Amino acid sequence: SDTAIADFGLIGLAVMGQNLILNVADHGFTVVAYNRTVEKVDRFLANEAKGKSVIGARSVEELCRKLKKPRKIMLLVKAGQAVDDFIEQIIPHIESGDIIIDGGNSHFPDSIRRSKYLEQKGFSFIGCGVSGGEDGARYGPSLMPGGSPAAWPHVKPIFQAICAKADNEPCCDWVGETGAGHYVKMVHNGIEYGDMQLICEAYHIMKEGLHLGADEIANAFAGWNEGDLNSFLIEITRDIMRFKDSDGTPLVEKIKDTAGQKGTGKWTAISALDLGVPVTLIGEAVFARTLSSLKNERVRASEILSGPASSGHQIVDKNEFVKKLGQALYASKLVSYAQGFMLMREAAKEYNWNLNNAGIALMWRGGCIIRSAFLGKIKEAYTNNPALENLLFDPFFKNAIDNAQSSWRYVISQAIVMGIPIPAFSTALAFYDGYRHARLPANLLQAQRDYFGAHTFRYLDEYTDDKHPKDRDV
Ligand code: NAP
Repeated sequence: SDTAIADFGLIGLAVMGQNLILNVADHGFTVVAYNRTVEKVDRFLANEAKGKSVIGARSVEELCRKLKKPRKIMLLVKAGQAVDDFIEQIIPHIESGDIIIDGGNSHFPDSIRRSKYLEQKGFSFIGCGVSGGEDGARYGPSLMPGGSPAAWPHVKPIFQAICAKADNEPCCDWVGETGAGHYVKMVHNGIEYGDMQLICEAYHIMKEGLHLGADEIANAFAGWNEGDLNSFLIEITRDIMRFKDSDGTPLVEKIKDTAGQKGTGKWTAISALDLGVPVTLIGEAVFARTLSSLKNERVRASEILSGPASSGHQIVDKNEFVKKLGQALYASKLVSYAQGFMLMREAAKEYNWNLNNAGIALMWRGGCIIRSAFLGKIKEAYTNNPALENLLFDPFFKNAIDNAQSSWRYVISQAIVMGIPIPAFSTALAFYDGYRHARLPANLLQAQRDYFGAHTFRYLDEYTDDKHPKDRDV
């Protein structure tokens, strides 16, 4: 039938698109589906979508014709040119007020550009971060929508129905204007890089420093997962450590130690450098992946370069050390999230977004890869004080750092003595110590700059506002 009966249109029948359609259909909406390779539409309707409220379209025109107004058309296609191509294909078939949603992993400057372009033509645009992978898309993703505010009331009932729920609240709320949704998704992914790197460093310390076996390490993660560190990533790490290959030995030890990346961590680090925000932990996490990828070079280096002489270093009370390691992990993770929120604050200034920190924490609380109990605490911190200058100033977190601090320093110092690389742990502590110093040695740095470059300096007793670093010319 050609009547406009569908509530929601979705283009892109790869793994994310198919699962999201089924999720939307399960919540009582009729979905019309289209894919560039049209055979995939028929196959999907005959198989996965059979018996569901899903109809097909064999062209973009047909998809638009079958949608109720205002039309809501979501793209879940490969990020980049494919999104622009589909936008151009859709434009001739939609009307003022219709909404195009990009749910791919688009880079936020593209979403800023697309939102301005479509709004200027009278359409609405939503750039929506989607996290949680295939399972999330099917049963409840974290959704981070930003773009044209006028579009939100139309999309909200669908998105808040299909998204993950945490503490009985939907893990989806309006993020902000233009590219804010994709920006927040990017920072989510950057934080994910940081969390994963911290977990890997903890594993490295337990394996190489404590000589624990995979099952003992799994038990440490299992223990942490019962406490403050309770999170999806700790939970899957526990399971990974327990997983045996067909020969009965831990599979993880057979996996080549070279990490890949798709670029969202790098984008976060680049944005941090552009905006002059010290997001050191995500930066180190990206560099740690690149160092890991120099496998052959590292093998050669391992034969040439030596580590500490005291190879006989012994940690006597391993259980006690694991406890301290958990505290060090928690403190480092807190610094990483504090840095992430510092970055979003500067981005909001730069791009004129009204970001709601408590809302962001709630969107990350469930459904996505960094979901955790900890994010519930961050949400509380920002709900208690929306103007909170830094997460580390929140009384709950200040207290948490105070409690963890001696363990944090001890674990890092021991890893350094043993020669185990801990870039994320140690940069977290370096940031913390730098941040809490009212005086840093930058006075000397300014003197050096003045000495060789006549950059001038200010006297200590002259008060100046904290300027945006990128606006500083002296
Ligand atoms: P994908 O592999 O990124 O993309 C495949 C889809 O894009 C197919 O529908 C394909 O159509 C279409 N496509 C590719 N190039 C195209 C072009 N030049 N013109 C038109 N269509 C084109 O699919 P995915 O893994 O489901 O991910 C979809 C989006 O969600 C991506 O942006 C991804 O980064 C993002 N995302 C993925 C995950 C995940 O866990 N996979 C999680 C969050 C977000 P054909 O069938 O015709 O080739």
